[in-house]
Amino acid sequence: MELARSLPGLLRQGLDLLLPPRCLGCGALLADQGRLCAACWSELVFIGEPSCTRCGHPFEHSLSGNSLCARCMARPPPYRRARSLLVYDDASRRLILALKHGDRTDLAGPLGTMMARHAPELVQDAEIVVPVPLHRSRLLARRFNQSALLARAVARAADRQWHPLLLIRHRRTPRQGGLNYRQRHANVRAAFSVRGDVAGRTVLLVDDVLTTGATAEACARVLGKAGARAVEVLTLARVATPGQIAI
Ligand SMILES: [Zn+2]
Ligand SMILES: [Zn+2]
Repeated sequence: MELARSLPGLLRQGLDLLLPPRCLGCGALLADQGRLCAACWSELVFIGEPSCTRCGHPFEHSLSGNSLCARCMARPPPYRRARSLLVYDDASRRLILALKHGDRTDLAGPLGTMMARHAPELVQDAEIVVPVPLHRSRLLARRFNQSALLARAVARAADRQWHPLLLIRHRRTPRQGGLNYRQRHANVRAAFSVRGDVAGRTVLLVDDVLTTGATAEACARVLGKAGARAVEVLTLARVATPGQIAI
């Protein structure tokens, strides 16, 4: 019994010797695995209230009650709610690039857990957790889908089902940069399809960054067409436009 009790501790000590704990952001040596150093913590901008109750866009000023941003008021998105842990800036971009290209897939576990804790109301309502998929050719080049790893960590933290292959990206979409709203939506409209049963279920869609929202909206539309009761969107970071106003 004594051995069984101390085994996790021994294993962790062994792991620490093999892989000394390093800051998830800058790589500085730390006391524990899966942490950020104080300097990296202080650089990250966490999104809290006030924000748009629909898309989660942060507002600069405090408001009372339910409030929608001008964009959601003009054109309600096809998902029920979207929430993000961080503002997409230099500090969060470093984290995402490390996760995506820097072989730091170990970042996904702690970041996904933080995402799940950040939006408990979305996670509680969801029955299945689904990543925004990569096209097969990109998946082959990168070997893994960072959004699928985040989705797995969110599902684990919330004890929900993870379905990494439920959504398929069957068309490789060109980069979205420089396109206007209509062009972006046309660009991704026919790129996704659903391979699984979502009828009557609430789906939590996970991605690394919410930029224009066109990708999340395209996924939410195909999931809705396939019969999903609702789609919630949870991302690690999002682009926040200064001056976005509440109505
Ligand atoms: Zn650091
Ligand atoms: Zn909004």
